[in-house]
Amino acid sequence: MSLAHLAPDHIRAIAPYQAGKPISELAREMGLAEADIVKLASNENPLGLSPKARAAMLAAMDELARYPDGNGFALKAAIAGKFAVAPTQIVLGNGSNDILELAARTFLSPGDTVVYAQYSFAVYPLATQAVGARGIEVKAQEYGHDLEAMLAAIEPSTKLVFIANPNNPTGTLCRPGDLLEFMERCPANVLVVLDEAYTEYLPREKQVDSLGLLRRFPNLIISRTLSKAYGLAGLRIGFALASAELSDLMNRVRQPFNVNSLAQAAAVAALDDLDFLRETVRINSEGMAQITAALVRLGVPFIPSYGNFITFHVGDGATLNRFMLERGVIIRPLASYGMKDSLRVSIGLPEENARFIAVLEEALEG
Ligand code: PMP
Repeated sequence: MSLAHLAPDHIRAIAPYQAGKPISELAREMGLAEADIVKLASNENPLGLSPKARAAMLAAMDELARYPDGNGFALKAAIAGKFAVAPTQIVLGNGSNDILELAARTFLSPGDTVVYAQYSFAVYPLATQAVGARGIEVKAQEYGHDLEAMLAAIEPSTKLVFIANPNNPTGTLCRPGDLLEFMERCPANVLVVLDEAYTEYLPREKQVDSLGLLRRFPNLIISRTLSKAYGLAGLRIGFALASAELSDLMNRVRQPFNVNSLAQAAAVAALDDLDFLRETVRINSEGMAQITAALVRLGVPFIPSYGNFITFHVGDGATLNRFMLERGVIIRPLASYGMKDSLRVSIGLPEENARFIAVLEEALEG
């Protein structure tokens, strides 16, 4: 007898998140050596992790028999210092995915609605659906957020808006002035989660002064991660910056020990390693130039991207994806985003990018 009916309808209706294929899985499936596989599928940092973060983790190993600091004192102090907020304004998360879910679990009830953009991060509808709220997906404008239409989509039942800036998987960016105007016009009783997972990759003039917005707008929740530019995806660490009032509520909902000790120790070191961050951004802009030049040369259309990845359009994404996998190159199909003609490739090291380009070229010739 199936017990699936014990889960509420809105849970049974959830389509699971599709992650990038792990290297070990492709190696098993294709009989390839792991060392011969290039993974450019999950927007990870191709440089690995900061040496300072590694050293901090090694030093924290001896304490692993103990529970982590559930209040994350040292990490909150580091974040507070770096971003000029009070520790009471910080919520630590098991990755920023945890932050997105905490926002949903803390503030939403069945019957509430949530506004997000078409082609924006897959976790927004998932987190919405998991709490029985209803998503209002607003049609994208040139693959990016149509902030005007998102404002217009807000209903009396709307409690929360998700905005990814830059957006994944399209790499699009909102203009800083447009975001400010959005916050000015958004009803004060609607929460706005501004997901800045890729903000470190932006040139300064493209960066939104989100901390300035936070001082002005108490309904803003900023979400950040250490999975991308800081190179700690496997450790799972992210955080929210919000008013002390909203942070306090989210902190009540999270698991008491949601961020493990190694992640806390590594994050303190990583936030401080500006050399590593600079090198990450440099490698990314060079790799972005390398890949976009190849796409232009090969006549493959793409969406100009502000992240550490780029989405391009091919006739049939599934066929090219299979071709790539058979040759040991893992990229990200986007059919689950309703973009079956598109694929997303993360920016890697120069030689990894070259391998992707060579296989793409081979596919187009064939
Ligand atoms: N937000 C966006 C826009 C993302 O692309 C991702 C990762 N794919 C996340 C949040 C979550 O990342 P993490 O949980 O590793 O912080």
